Amino acid sequence: MTDQTLSNLLHEERRFEPPEDLAAHANLKADAYERAASDRLGFWEEQAGRLDWAERWDTVLDWDNPPFAKWFVGGKLNASYNCVDRHVEAGRGDRVAFHWVGEPGDSRTITYADLQEEVCKAANALVELGVESGDRVAIYMPMIPETVVAMLACARLGAPHTVVFGGFSADALAGRIQDCDARVVITSDGGYRRGAPSALKPAVDEAVSRCPDVRNVVVVRRTGQDIAWNDEVDVWWHDVVDRQSSTHEPEAFDSEHPLYVMYTSGTTGKPKGILHTTGGYLVGASYTHWAVFDLKPETDVYWCTADIGWVTGHSYIVYGPLANGTTSVMYEGTPDTPHKGRWWEIIAEHEVTTFYTAPTAIRTFMKWGNEIPEKHDLSSLRLLGSVGESINPEAYMWYREHIGGNRCPIVDTWWQTETGMIMVSPLPGVTAGKPGSAMTAIPGVSADVLDDTGEPVPNGSGGYLVLTEPWPAMLRTLWGDDQRFKDTYWSRFPGRYFAGDGAKKDEDGDIWLLGRVDDVMNVSGHRLSTTEIESALVSHPKVAEAAVVGAADETTGQAVCAFVILRESAGDGGDEIVKELRNHVAHEIGAIAKPRQIMVVQELPKTRSGKIMRRLLRDVAEKREVGDVTTLADSTVMSLIQQGLSSDK
Ligand code: ATP
Ligand code: MG
Repeated sequence: MTDQTLSNLLHEERRFEPPEDLAAHANLKADAYERAASDRLGFWEEQAGRLDWAERWDTVLDWDNPPFAKWFVGGKLNASYNCVDRHVEAGRGDRVAFHWVGEPGDSRTITYADLQEEVCKAANALVELGVESGDRVAIYMPMIPETVVAMLACARLGAPHTVVFGGFSADALAGRIQDCDARVVITSDGGYRRGAPSALKPAVDEAVSRCPDVRNVVVVRRTGQDIAWNDEVDVWWHDVVDRQSSTHEPEAFDSEHPLYVMYTSGTTGKPKGILHTTGGYLVGASYTHWAVFDLKPETDVYWCTADIGWVTGHSYIVYGPLANGTTSVMYEGTPDTPHKGRWWEIIAEHEVTTFYTAPTAIRTFMKWGNEIPEKHDLSSLRLLGSVGESINPEAYMWYREHIGGNRCPIVDTWWQTETGMIMVSPLPGVTAGKPGSAMTAIPGVSADVLDDTGEPVPNGSGGYLVLTEPWPAMLRTLWGDDQRFKDTYWSRFPGRYFAGDGAKKDEDGDIWLLGRVDDVMNVSGHRLSTTEIESALVSHPKVAEAAVVGAADETTGQAVCAFVILRESAGDGGDEIVKELRNHVAHEIGAIAKPRQIMVVQELPKTRSGKIMRRLLRDVAEKREVGDVTTLADSTVMSLIQQGLSSDK
């Protein structure tokens, strides 16, 4: 990206200072940036003190063989002990770990003492099934408490888990089981979604029929629906777990012992098996959850709406919050079941203080209308978070006003499956937030934006986002593929981690994410960012959501093609809408960014974690066969869009 990106910058002038009271009592104050910068490893060592170590490390970071990092070398700890037992031992066993809400209206309250008992029993059950330290266990579950219990039981035994999102097909599940050679699968008969039981076990049966090395499938009974049963492989969770002893002595593992393998969401291609290890990961997850969400474990009620099958669920539903002794809400189902205000009802009922969700959800609520959240009491909220994509400034403003009551700071958190923890984000008690900007690297993290030659760009320019120093929760490699690990992340800019995202620094040096590097468009020699054009479209009052791609064009090299979803209040938009939107983009950014084509659609292709899959839209716009759709949330979306496009021409 060149300086020409500059001419396309949106002129965002709004700033939101942290609320005074929050700033006065914030966990991290402004001095943390300097403290971390002057002694980075010392700062991380201080953060490692947040955990209970069975043996203290002797070296904070071993970076002798980059890019293979070792953190807290020589240290030993148990992740499950740190997330559960130590809170009980400190007399906090009665604190609620999860207010769990089932989609049909059932609920469970799980204290830290309850969690300890369940995790110990599950760990004993896995031992009985022959699971040993180092064995991989696949988890394919709905959003129920047993999913957390299963993960912690694996961690307790040093058996790395791989959680596969419950909406994935048998194919995707089989591929992941095979890729990491899991021998045991934990699943359930099904879970509730959109008001009905949704089966999981049939997909496991199909996957396991292709994975002869799987010895056992442990099945939680959630929906009670009929399922096929293979006596040689299948065991009910309640048969094998409930009768176990409720104590289990956790073994301390090496800091670098593998904790889990998580596959990326597959927005840009075939998912990658990201390996996270124990000590550094837990330090990073716990520190960032405490710092970025200003967590006050005594008083906060925290809710992250992600699915556990996504890294956000790992770091910010399970490991970070539990390591910090947090009280969380966990919800099984969809946001519109049985009505479109379900989430807001849950916030009101549990007096949620801290809420973390994705821009895709926010834009959906914008589409549904302001009157839905308005019916609920959201006054308990004090802090909002966003993750997964850039939050368009208008979505930020809507979130701030309609959910946050203009009083809650918003933390726009940039990170990846690979980073394991939040890397770039405002600090809620320090940063004056700018709608649409993830702001700066948090204390302890070093990020920069580089040009093609690897030089940092000056303020006001765009380029490639990189991380310039190793960090504790960084991925250690791609499972079984060190070479791909080096090639993907460390070869573009030697010595620095290449994130694959475009970004710009504004005049203050704050970072704005511009979308995937692969998605950057080149129109008549001008480099245009998907995020900026999408944000311009979303700033039009009739638009709820937009996706932009560059399609090959004979005259301009590439041309901008946009797909938009209108707000319900806009009706069908009328005949004039396309013209109106094209002019709006020209006005907001410049004539060069004016889309050649704008299609009004009902849905956009998204991954299960809610990210727009632009590569599929590019296939459509360039009239190719669409690529790999296995991680798409709804595969029918693509054929609907294709039909619409052909009738449009
Ligand atoms: P794959 O790497 O397989 O294509 P993926 O990158 O979609 O999958 P994730 O690791 O879940 O899988 O997503 C990380 C990406 O999400 C980031 O690289 C970035 O593009 C995007 N992202 C996450 N948070 C933000 C944010 N706050 N602002 C902008 N982009 C974000
Ligand atoms: Mg990625």
